[in-house]
Amino acid sequence: MEERFTGSFTQQEPIPEEGIAAALSVLRHGRLHRYNVAPGELSETALLEQEFAAMTGARFALAVASGGYALGCALRAVGVQPGDRVLTNAFTLAPVPGAIASVGAEPVFVGVTEDLVIDLDDLAAKLDRARVLMLSHMRGHICDMGRLMAMCDEAGVTVIEDCAHTMGAAWDGVPSGRHGAVGCYSTQTYKHMNSGEGGFLVTDDEEIAARAVILSGSYMLYERHLAAPGPEVFERVKYHTPNVSGRMDNLRAAILRPQLRTLDEQVARWNERYRVVEEGLRGVPGLTLIARDPRETYVGSSIQVLLLDWAPEALQEVLARCAARGVELKWFGGAEPVAFTSRYDSWRYAETEALPATDRVLAGIVDMRLPLTFSPEDCAQIARIIRAEVSAVFQRG
Ligand SMILES: *Cc1c(COP(=O)(O)O)cnc(C)c1O
Repeated sequence: MEERFTGSFTQQEPIPEEGIAAALSVLRHGRLHRYNVAPGELSETALLEQEFAAMTGARFALAVASGGYALGCALRAVGVQPGDRVLTNAFTLAPVPGAIASVGAEPVFVGVTEDLVIDLDDLAAKLDRARVLMLSHMRGHICDMGRLMAMCDEAGVTVIEDCAHTMGAAWDGVPSGRHGAVGCYSTQTYKHMNSGEGGFLVTDDEEIAARAVILSGSYMLYERHLAAPGPEVFERVKYHTPNVSGRMDNLRAAILRPQLRTLDEQVARWNERYRVVEEGLRGVPGLTLIARDPRETYVGSSIQVLLLDWAPEALQEVLARCAARGVELKWFGGAEPVAFTSRYDSWRYAETEALPATDRVLAGIVDMRLPLTFSPEDCAQIARIIRAEVSAVFQRG
């Protein structure tokens, strides 16, 4: 009989016991709001920010309600105004153009290469159209950040990094999120740390940091932060910065702090699984693995392959055959947005130009989550199933 995979692609690991204990303690004292502290107490949220700043090496860190909120907050904090255009990746997820739309700005989409990173030639051609690039390290693929930053610096374009899939990753030894002016992260359930919902923003720029703190809804309690600039910086921005409420609370912070301490171990476990799937899919005719640059330290929490130039019917047959054997693959080539997967031309609130080279790549991207509840043996089995089904459909032609 054919083997069938029975694991769940959406099942994460439980919250560590230490996090559960810390959450219970917050629930028992009742001070869930981040600024609700007993005399002399430092809130879980403020401590988490201090620890996240230390982990990324940033001067300032702010914890917020979601990754999408962090992106919108970063756009406001760097001064994006309604009607401005913001460059961003054509290959990304809906909250990225959504954050741009949330401030009344307009996304300008930049293409994707066969390595699944932003097309730097297409970016070069569009750099004069905007003052800000919201760079999405989509599915953890990091472009040549040296070249990108040199281009953007020369053009005077501010870079905001969307690190929803690169928390714990690095380019050339520099943590992802630390190349541009602002780095944004998500702690939503399907990302690298899990608080249900949540996010972070990091920066070295004191005015961006102060504006972000006020934007997030600090009222005038910014002195209760441990990873924020001094009060003199807040004096300069506080009358001109609106409160666009989106704070993190102490309950979420309490369950994130122990996860932050083990992030590196989790990254190693993800990469072990990633490599098992990658090895298992090497040399399958018709299937292209994504080459990883030696300068990239990635987090293999998901894996993508290309079935480049396949007829859509054949590709969909592979997905259906894998699904019948318990392997859930997502496709970025579908005309209609499905679940988390949508294409730049489905975001019809934004104007789009044709990107034929990008359409060709998107039409071939097959994407799979690798939750840590899968064992390396599970990953080997998944790869065997994909290998068999891709080969069967490919050989038939
Ligand atoms: C999840 C995600 C976000 C937004 O994070 P939320 O916390 O869900 O708002 C942004 N960008 C990408 C690429 C994501 O996958």
